[in-house]
Amino acid sequence: MAYLLAGVLFIRSLGGLSRQDTAGAGNVAGMAGMALAIAVTVVTWWIHGTSTGPVATLAIAGGAGAVIGTLLARRVQMTGMPELVAMLHSFVGLAAVLVGISSHLAPAEVLTTPAAATLHGIEIWVGVAVGAVTFTGSLIAWAKLRGTLSGRPLLLPARHLLNAGAAAGLVAMAVMFLNAPTPEAGLPWLVGDAVLAGLLGAHLVMAIGGADMPVVVSLLNSYSGWAAAASGFVLSNDLLIVTGALVGASGTILSIIMCRAMNRSILNVVFGGFGAVAVTTAAAIEGEVQELSSAAVAEKLRAAKSVVIVPGYGMAVAHAQRAVAELTRALRDKGITVRFAIHPVAGRLPGHMNVLLAEAGVPYDIVQEMEHINHDFPTTDVTLVIGANDIVNPGAMDDPGSPIYGMPVLEVWKSALTVVLKRGMAAGYAGVDNPLFTRDHTRMLFGDAKKSVDALVAAVAS
Ligand code: NDP
Repeated sequence: MAYLLAGVLFIRSLGGLSRQDTAGAGNVAGMAGMALAIAVTVVTWWIHGTSTGPVATLAIAGGAGAVIGTLLARRVQMTGMPELVAMLHSFVGLAAVLVGISSHLAPAEVLTTPAAATLHGIEIWVGVAVGAVTFTGSLIAWAKLRGTLSGRPLLLPARHLLNAGAAAGLVAMAVMFLNAPTPEAGLPWLVGDAVLAGLLGAHLVMAIGGADMPVVVSLLNSYSGWAAAASGFVLSNDLLIVTGALVGASGTILSIIMCRAMNRSILNVVFGGFGAVAVTTAAAIEGEVQELSSAAVAEKLRAAKSVVIVPGYGMAVAHAQRAVAELTRALRDKGITVRFAIHPVAGRLPGHMNVLLAEAGVPYDIVQEMEHINHDFPTTDVTLVIGANDIVNPGAMDDPGSPIYGMPVLEVWKSALTVVLKRGMAAGYAGVDNPLFTRDHTRMLFGDAKKSVDALVAAVAS
């Protein structure tokens, strides 16, 4: 009954997280479900009279994990969240590998029939394989997100052949593993499973280009769920199966939604850049950039009836969200309509901008998704692009040579005036130049986004 209740709490958690105003309650439901699951595990041991060994292990490992987790979560900057999430996914993958190997060496229950033993062997094999793909894939994603590895895709000449060969190797080794006469004889095959699947995971993510990374992160999220579900089968733990399936399914749905939003094929991302073009070069930018001072931008804002703000990764880096909220209040107090346009992959995490704006107290009803606001740019007087770049790149629509060609973007260049706030002319995450900056109706306000927005607030108020 407690497992059932925990399962319901996890479902409520996912339901809550799908809307900003219920996200807090969703988080609480998830935490309550997890606390219940841990408590019930301990109580079950106690009822069954298990020795104190496992409880002590749980207390030490869980206690240390809780302390390290709390410290890291408190210290991490919002800009570092994607890396943290990728790292956490890798832990789930590693745990699935370790659970599989230990369950092979010391099964929790005696398997009486050969069929049961084969089934258990398959569960272990799949758990270790999915876990290893998740582990190394997430580590590569972590390194790419923090910039340790380049965001460029690694497109080896025979990469699909390599992947197919690795998949065939996994199946062949599975046959050897399942037919091994003793657990000790099967162990090298199982370790081989982990190593080969690990190489496959690393290779699949290495082949993904910068602009597709958001989908990879959510895909690895779903893999971590499937790895946990596989561990649930290995350990015969129903709640772990349910929880893993929930994470796996919701991660898959999120990946599909993000692929649709970015006009990418999910198969392309799953199979590591299938059909990706090896070398793409965006057209060189022509024309000159035109600058405006913060006082001049403030004047344009005061004269506007309708203003749209497009936040991007740079707003997160500059911690400018509170200043942006203040600017929004100042403009709305003057009767100016202000709305936010949110691109599905703005920032470095799905929902990144929504979280920052909610934290700064921007009302939810003026924060709009791309498909709702994109057709309003032609009737917008001033669009402020704050630390965004790739998500407002017109090359994604009209330059077939651009690596982000085909990705829907916010069509900010259609508004009467577009002001871009950034520090210099650096490219965004995808590493492509942006022709928006030299368009006729575009003006640049150079500087750190927080300082620029603070200056705008002061100038609008005066
Ligand atoms: P981008 O990364 O394209 O651009 C951010 C811009 O912000 C840079 O060009 C930079 O220019 C500017 N900037 C950086 N720091 C500051 C600062 N302190 N003040 C002012 N400006 C600053 O961000 P977008 O949000 O437009 O696009 C997101 C990109 O990230 C997409 O390519 C997406 O695919 C990718 N991505 C998204 C993920 C997600 O889930 N949302 C996950 C992984 C990747 P300058 O240095 O000149 O100031």
